[in-house]
Amino acid sequence: METIKMQNIQKKYGDKIALTKVNLTVNKGEVVSLIGPSGSGKSTLLRCINFLEVPSQGNVLIEGQPIDYKVNSIGKLTIGSKIKMSKVRSKVGMVFQHFNLWKHKTVLENIIEGPMIVKKMPKEKAIEIADELLNKVGLYDKRNEHPSDLSGGQQQRIAIARALAMEPSVMLFDEATSALDPEMVNEVLQIMMGLAKEGMTMMIVTHEMGFAKQVSDRVVFMEDGQIVTIGTPNEIFASNNNPRVTKFLQNLQPLS
Ligand code: ADP
Repeated sequence: METIKMQNIQKKYGDKIALTKVNLTVNKGEVVSLIGPSGSGKSTLLRCINFLEVPSQGNVLIEGQPIDYKVNSIGKLTIGSKIKMSKVRSKVGMVFQHFNLWKHKTVLENIIEGPMIVKKMPKEKAIEIADELLNKVGLYDKRNEHPSDLSGGQQQRIAIARALAMEPSVMLFDEATSALDPEMVNEVLQIMMGLAKEGMTMMIVTHEMGFAKQVSDRVVFMEDGQIVTIGTPNEIFASNNNPRVTKFLQNLQPLS
């Protein structure tokens, strides 16, 4: 089954083209990593899937459902129905570089908010799911603390639990480990690896090439707002795959 289908996506910011002619399908259970130089459009692509950005052209379908963009009076795509968008968006979990947890809420409150507000889940049920997820990310004992009491790695594990609480069809990770101290990167990657092994459909923007190689079914290499090549990790990381990929990998500091 096709979990995500991006059809001919273009995204412009003013005159600047951030994405052009992006076609990509991610099937259920697949793990797809996006790699490429800074500014190549990886984050914009994820944000179009989560509807944080409206493409300038093209369409995004989640489990076959479009959110129906409308063309406004100046010819720009806009969101047709906020209710429909909210429904489709609730299938997409996203984890950001800077966690984006609510600072004034406890860990537990951060996790139950989405299911209660968006899914109208009874509080008891939301707490039950949250506690299960807190155990899964190894942070049940932190449930009544506030994000500022936690390390960066712990905050990101909570952010993952919060996204999972919505029972999404796909999880998007936008440089989820880039803001972490090096010693905290692994605890987050391990949670992501566990999700992949459980069959979660995932799209991952990462600079951790070793991890991308290990976890991905397919790797997408982007440059200048376009998908340059897509392949299995072995294909993409093979030294003779594509000179642009090779150059990108050689320029990474440090090589991993
Ligand atoms: P990546 O994630 O690969 O680093 P981005 O998707 O963040 O790339 O950015 C792609 C291009 O779009 C870059 O040139 C960036 O400067 C531009 N861009 C991204 N977001 C905005 C924005 N909100 N306004 C203007 N330009 C943007």
